[in-house]
Amino acid sequence: MPQAYVHPTFPFTPPAELAAGAVGRTTVAVVGGGPVGLTLALDIAQRGVETVLLDEDDTTSHGSRLICMSKRTLEIFDRLGVGAPFREKGVVWNRGRLFFGENEVYAFDLLPERDPAWPGVVNIQPSYVEEVLVLVAAAASALILELTVP
Ligand SMILES: Cc1cc2nc3c(=O)[nH]c(=O)nc-3n(C[C@H](O)[C@H](O)[C@H](O)COP(=O)(O)OP(=O)(O)OC[C@H]3O[C@@H](n4cnc5c(N)ncnc54)[C@H](O)[C@@H]3O)c2cc1C
Repeated sequence: MPQAYVHPTFPFTPPAELAAGAVGRTTVAVVGGGPVGLTLALDIAQRGVETVLLDEDDTTSHGSRLICMSKRTLEIFDRLGVGAPFREKGVVWNRGRLFFGENEVYAFDLLPERDPAWPGVVNIQPSYVEEVLVLVAAAASALILELTVP
């Protein structure tokens, strides 16, 4: 029986300057730690620019969305060094087939020219994508994560 996904929580950790009572300034603030905000903050921080990421929530995405990750998205994740876990865990496919009853009514190929590095699409749940991005972002030295706005 497969285990249901357990949403991790990422407790708010006050930045050091707040504890010291000082006012700090960060070069870039990204608001919203969904897939886009996390990717953007990680990209900027990996270029050595001090970045703070703010989110109102302390866990990963709830609900069913972002099931299909396209090749282009995977290429961006790979440039940031986070592509491999998604390709390994997700369901990889190129060709889609639609059936009406027993009859195939439509078929399409999202990657007619095969790329040995990438599939056309990977199916993976958004909560897992966000969890991996949060863990990688937390390890980025130029990025401060504030996943709960106090
Ligand atoms: C039903 C459905 C199916 C989809 N399927 C696909 C798909 O197959 N493939 C695909 O690529 N895309 C899909 N999408 C689109 C995809 O979900 C979005 O493009 C993606 O989630 C956008 O990411 P985001 O980071 O911009 O926003 P979100 O994922 O919405 O994240 C926003 C973040 O901002 C935070 N936030 C909001 N307000 C504040 C605030 N005031 N202060 C601080 N933080 C705040 C939230 O807590 C959240 O973490 C689908 C969407 C839906 C609804």
